[in-house]
Amino acid sequence: MEMSDKTNNVMIVDDDAHVRIAVRTILYDAGFHVIAADSGSQCIDLLKKGFTGVILLDIMMPEMDGWDTIRAILDNKLEENIAIIMLTAKNVPDKKMIGLQEYVVDYITKPFDNEDLIQKTSFIMSYVHDRNNMGITAE
Ligand SMILES: [Mg+2]
Repeated sequence: MEMSDKTNNVMIVDDDAHVRIAVRTILYDAGFHVIAADSGSQCIDLLKKGFTGVILLDIMMPEMDGWDTIRAILDNKLEENIAIIMLTAKNVPDKKMIGLQEYVVDYITKPFDNEDLIQKTSFIMSYVHDRNNMGITAE
């Protein structure tokens, strides 16, 4: 795990081990550094340890779901130098997302297409770089 390399870090946060393994394998093969968290609280721990990059965040998780995790990221002021893509099993309107959608840059619906996962991750990674290079934070 290389925390200092800002260029290619991806964190997959999902309570389903099969999803974590699939995402790690696909994105590792595509040239990304991938770390996995099995819960929102582990995601927060990794951010506190200095993770920067793209976070693929499952919405449906026990204890802290994806929206709770975003709330905790904001409460801990850890939202700089990351970009969040939500992994969603279905498009269900969710009251919990109100006010938090602005912190989500994209959505990927499960089961995902491998190429779509790679392309969206690459695109959002370049967005993180541009934002860092311009020295601005999320609006
Ligand atoms: Mg889940």
